[in-house]
Amino acid sequence: MMEEDYPEPEEFDETDFDKTKGRKLKVLCVRCEGKTNHTVLQSVIRNISENYMNWSGTYEVIQCLGCESISFREEIYFSELAEPWPGGSNGIEVSLYPKRTEHTRPQKPTYHAPPTVRKIYKEVIDCYNNESYILCAAGLRAMVEGICASKGIKKGKVEITLEDETKQTKTLTNIQGKISGLFEQGYLTKDHSDILHEHRFLGNEAVHELSSPTPEELNIAIDILEHTLEALFNLPRQAIDLKNHRSRRKNKT
Ligand SMILES: [Zn+2]
Repeated sequence: MMEEDYPEPEEFDETDFDKTKGRKLKVLCVRCEGKTNHTVLQSVIRNISENYMNWSGTYEVIQCLGCESISFREEIYFSELAEPWPGGSNGIEVSLYPKRTEHTRPQKPTYHAPPTVRKIYKEVIDCYNNESYILCAAGLRAMVEGICASKGIKKGKVEITLEDETKQTKTLTNIQGKISGLFEQGYLTKDHSDILHEHRFLGNEAVHELSSPTPEELNIAIDILEHTLEALFNLPRQAIDLKNHRSRRKNKT
């Protein structure tokens, strides 16, 4: 065959805006648990073809149709990565930002918590989602300390077992004492404070004594502290907002 029988490859470099706008997708949500329906709010598509190779990138701002969270989806196709045989790759790679997996813990809104507590909470969730479990445990301790500091809790009664196996109740100022203090002031239920006491990673004094906790253990401890944040800082604020709203309505009539 003569060389001129091959057609010249078509070369292009195109950019399209909002071509996929309004498209519906099922995607893992950053906040809801599991996959939910999302819609594309805006998109940019680039298509490049040169030397018989095709590359395309689809960049989409997407919104969850449940919780309305907005995030970013990137879909890259590269013809050189496609394997045209059964079970082969279709050459498409999808990434979501912020990153998420089935086990990703969404970050709960903590607008009304003190800034330090909010910052530590964000880092705790980041560590958990990045599988940095020792740092996550250290962060949970810091969160308990931060919550106690904001409420002026410095100590609490802890039942300790002496060498001869007898039990004694002592007032302590360490992290165990503070967990008890949260219960004594009514900020934690008895069950929740017992569970937190059972976690060795919250009991050890120094970070170098921390054994790597399991994700399941951390998950429960994070659940409890999220409840605590909600009860301590969000609910009282919502009660004030509701009261103001009512009195404004009353004044109007
Ligand atoms: Zn959602």
